[in-house]
Amino acid sequence: MFYKTEKLRFECTGCGDCCRGNSSQYYVYVSPQEADKIRAFLGISEAWFRCRYLARLDAMTFGIRMMPTGHCSFLDSAGKCRIYSVRPIQCRTYPWWPEVVETRSGWQYEAKRCEGINRGAIVPLKKIKSALKRLSKN
Ligand code: SF4
Ligand code: SF4
Repeated sequence: MFYKTEKLRFECTGCGDCCRGNSSQYYVYVSPQEADKIRAFLGISEAWFRCRYLARLDAMTFGIRMMPTGHCSFLDSAGKCRIYSVRPIQCRTYPWWPEVVETRSGWQYEAKRCEGINRGAIVPLKKIKSALKRLSKN
């Protein structure tokens, strides 16, 4: 595994580019518990939350809907997350996703999108493993 043998550097600059996709077909996965936390944080009804922000991906899975521009619905005009304190695990664990850290090519590919990759201090392996574990349990 690439992340186990290499020393990976990462420091988020807050640029917001990981919240800007290039397709409205992309989704941020949310568990039912995460969705409910976000809804409560926004203080809106379940019906309106589902209609305005969620897309059903399959019978049991929901995702946060992207805007037609490919931006996350919760990215504000200043490039900040409007639900930062209750953002989903998928966002909290970025860039420590299997497809990003398991191979060098995955890591370097993602570095084209995220300017925090290969910047700053070496991230302890323990932290990377912990993020991967949290993501897999979600
Ligand atoms: S793209 Fe990378 S550097 Fe920019 S906000 Fe996202 S994690 Fe941080
Ligand atoms: S929920 Fe927040 S952190 Fe996650 S993609 Fe949307 S704007 Fe970014």
